[in-house]
Amino acid sequence: MGQMIANVYCVGRNYALHAQELGNDVPQEPMIFLKPSHAITTMNGNTIQLPSGVGEVHYEAELVLKIARPYEKGIAVDELVDVMALGIDFTLRDVQTELKKKGHPWMKAKGFLHAAPLSRYVAFDGVKETMQQDFMLQKNGAIVQQGNISNMIFSLQEIVDYIGTHYGLGVGDHIFTGTPAGVGPVVHDDHMELFYGAERLGECHITFEHSS
Ligand code: MG
Repeated sequence: MGQMIANVYCVGRNYALHAQELGNDVPQEPMIFLKPSHAITTMNGNTIQLPSGVGEVHYEAELVLKIARPYEKGIAVDELVDVMALGIDFTLRDVQTELKKKGHPWMKAKGFLHAAPLSRYVAFDGVKETMQQDFMLQKNGAIVQQGNISNMIFSLQEIVDYIGTHYGLGVGDHIFTGTPAGVGPVVHDDHMELFYGAERLGECHITFEHSS
């Protein structure tokens, strides 16, 4: 990918309308989980294989930050991040529902291979500039999710401060910053396209079949 992948942090329930659509409370502090770096894959017109026979697989389109330097207290997110991408936080929704009931970690639902496709990177021009454009997911040519970071419950600055303080943030770390409303299932042969404003940053096709 031409970029180092270190830790892959993700923020859960960071848009109020998405928390509501899954029947979740809006969190009082950032809700952070990890995916293995092996979950990362490209989104350059390739076909992505997802797990079959495990219930619904949901897309969650998210803005993704890449960290360019070690976190230190007081650093502005505009200084900390050099490039961003769009990504899909693929989720085994039925598996996740079972894990939530049992109080188990989300790894099985969120950490599988190819669970985190990433578009190409573009320059991160700062928080204010990034609010000027919506990001959008199209499935088979129809808009299914549209988000703007101005609608986040916890801002990009609050997220990097929280993660940097509690867990550490350094070069090559990535943060999936949460999904807006409109999540839903993918099926075999779906075509997914991620846009930032009018610019398409990534696309992929979905398969549930194992290649022989
Ligand atoms: Mg997510």
